[in-house]
Amino acid sequence: MRVYFDHHATTPLDPAVLAAMLPHLGERFGNPSSVQHVFGQEARAAVDQARERVASLIGAGAEEIIFTSGATESDNLAIRGIGRALAGRGRHVVSTAIEHPAVLEPCRTLEREGFDVTRVGVSPEGLVDPADVVAALRPDTVLVSLIAANNEVGTIQPVAEVGAVCRERGILFHSDAVQAVGRIPVNVDAWKVDVMSLSAHKMYGPKGVGALYLRKDRRPRVRPQPQAEGGGQEKGLRSGTLNVPGIVGFGEAARVAKQALAGGEAERIRALRDRLLAELITRIDGVEMNGALEPRLPGNAHISIARAEAETLILSLGGTIALSSGAACAEAGGKGSHVLRAMGLPDDRVFTALRFGLGRYNTEPEVDVVVEALARAVKATRERSAPAAS
Ligand code: PLP
Repeated sequence: MRVYFDHHATTPLDPAVLAAMLPHLGERFGNPSSVQHVFGQEARAAVDQARERVASLIGAGAEEIIFTSGATESDNLAIRGIGRALAGRGRHVVSTAIEHPAVLEPCRTLEREGFDVTRVGVSPEGLVDPADVVAALRPDTVLVSLIAANNEVGTIQPVAEVGAVCRERGILFHSDAVQAVGRIPVNVDAWKVDVMSLSAHKMYGPKGVGALYLRKDRRPRVRPQPQAEGGGQEKGLRSGTLNVPGIVGFGEAARVAKQALAGGEAERIRALRDRLLAELITRIDGVEMNGALEPRLPGNAHISIARAEAETLILSLGGTIALSSGAACAEAGGKGSHVLRAMGLPDDRVFTALRFGLGRYNTEPEVDVVVEALARAVKATRERSAPAAS
């Protein structure tokens, strides 16, 4: 039996998404820029509808959505593009210690270009304190970037509070909301974000397509410096022929997600996650939660299991149970997750950390299978690493 509990890494395509995409991989192959003929017109109409649907999921207007190749590109366009465009006004950016590399790296690039970047820390619970963001602001701050829901520990950050302060001070506010959109209600007005990154493949859509939300009446009304220049698609902010099948899939995924959220999907997934946690704690001794239980993404559980190294455990599960070790980040270079480090966790917690990401198609029997398999694997791992008797 294969069980997929790694929905922070990616999600399976919803069957409705696949069905919506297929015609656009076949007979509906037109280029949405070629609006002189019906082939192009059909493609344009499909893209327009997808734009409406993605916008509607986050309470935005269709004209505020720029399609990209994924959230990595969206984050880069936001951070580098806005930083460079505003460099004449100020060269200070505020972000946090628990961002995804798609934000961390462009911040480093800006530093090499002469910017200062302040990385606000987090509590041991994995939460940013808005007061720390306020304290980091300077007269030359041009951009604040805060991850909405962390991709490791799943903690949901105080986006609306930080947004309010940025709005008051006239500072542009970006949020990487990749892990939040489609999983919890997200509304760009309630959150007071000016710029937001989204990715289709984290919400049962296809890989290689994402979006940047760009508020129409943002202040200052800066135009991000484009990373890809060419034919001027997406208002010149992202040139290149649009990935029509991907965008159509993204739109359908957004439509389905909106419906699923209204229909109680988050509550169902939260109940599964709570069952998983309760059973793990009952069956295995030495289980500790990492990060605050609330506010947290409903499908996320993040634990450390004493005396059971995560990599070894995952290997001993034989590859059929998809989990992630909190420490297996290529970027970390063996030092362990920068997120867990920022939370102040010691080595033994960092290297025994497991991330579970539950999603739309998971079931109670799957939870039970995973708990059983993990309990056995922990026992075996501990027996192997225990000093031999006598
Ligand atoms: N930001 C966060 C928080 C993520 O979890 C991810 C995906 O892992 C990304 C950005 C990058 O998204 P994409 O795979 O669409 O480039």
